[in-house]
Amino acid sequence: MKQKIPMAKPSITKKEISYVDDAIRNGWGEKCYDYIKKFESKFKEYIGSKFSLATSSCTGAINLALATIGLKPRDEVIIADIAWITSATPITYFGAKPVFIDILPDSWCINPKKIEEAVTSKTKAIMVIHLYGNVAEMDEIMKIAKKHDLYVIEDAAEALGSEYKGEKVGSMGDIGVFSFHGAKTCTTGEGGMLVTDNEELFRKASTLNNAGRNPESKKVFYADMIGYKYKMSNLQAALGLAQLERIEELVDRKRQIFYEYKEKLSDLLGISMNPEPPHIKNSFWMPTVIFDKSLNIDRKKLIDFFKEKNVDVRPFFYPVSSFPIFEKNEKNVVSYNIYHRGINLPSYHDITSEEIAYVCTLLKEFIEKNETKNTKIDS
Ligand SMILES: *Cc1c(COP(=O)(O)O)cnc(C)c1O
Repeated sequence: MKQKIPMAKPSITKKEISYVDDAIRNGWGEKCYDYIKKFESKFKEYIGSKFSLATSSCTGAINLALATIGLKPRDEVIIADIAWITSATPITYFGAKPVFIDILPDSWCINPKKIEEAVTSKTKAIMVIHLYGNVAEMDEIMKIAKKHDLYVIEDAAEALGSEYKGEKVGSMGDIGVFSFHGAKTCTTGEGGMLVTDNEELFRKASTLNNAGRNPESKKVFYADMIGYKYKMSNLQAALGLAQLERIEELVDRKRQIFYEYKEKLSDLLGISMNPEPPHIKNSFWMPTVIFDKSLNIDRKKLIDFFKEKNVDVRPFFYPVSSFPIFEKNEKNVVSYNIYHRGINLPSYHDITSEEIAYVCTLLKEFIEKNETKNTKIDS
């Protein structure tokens, strides 16, 4: 292909352009929060949460969520080792400790049994990441949280539109957070959202995000606590509202793309992809392929091979505990065994069937060549 096939890019239509155009012309003065309010309101309706707070990023929303639950030095937060880096690092901003545990081999999300084993008297919360659109086992997680009186924060940045037993992810824990980064299913360029059903948590999060000033207070410029400011602009919210009005279309397209890959790769032996068991609806943010050990795939060579062909594929996340900033935890055997055998395939909304077919052909070509090479070495 002459034209590069990127990993991700947003779907922008006339609607997005017209909303942003309106916001930049008219969304000032008294109207400077109009799109933000509409975006927050439509978002909580879609997710099925009582309260929503737009933020400048999901990382900001995670930081706010941790501050909202009152995370303190030496507290512990249990989190899957396979995570986005900023699902974990904000925990350390509070002097608290991320406790990395293993994932399930099929959903690549946190293993509930390992949570139970990791709970100590210092545990304050469980950070659940719904990876690549896949969904964590929420019933088991909520049961453990209830038993040990822990908060559950759902990082649903990669799973907007995914469902667990008919409920949207992000709506089941105490707090849910989302990302609208340009690579995500729904974008505002950069941006995020915090949702909750708990009014007290919502009020605290709102005050924290308003530099410590209660947004409902009559006292102008008066601060009650040390706060932050991770706010979304009205311009970004205009883009977000337009995207949200197309959310069913955006999620459906992600699902189509995944199933097109799955069908075209169905004759390829020794791979597994994102699961969609009966109790789950997967929004398939990133179609992901895990190669069996027997295929002996050198991931770096595979990614370089795609790069030469002008196709952008991405490596599966590293275990966060493998970074030098944390303590290595190779006891998380599933995490440490799987990551170097996994890649994400391009899945932006406007990808064509020809492009999907081309990616699949390349993948098969690489595996065939690799197998011939391996047999030669063996014999
Ligand atoms: C993208 C992502 C984030 C961070 O989102 P930003 O909006 O870029 O801060 C957090 N968690 C997960 C799981 C993500 O994929």
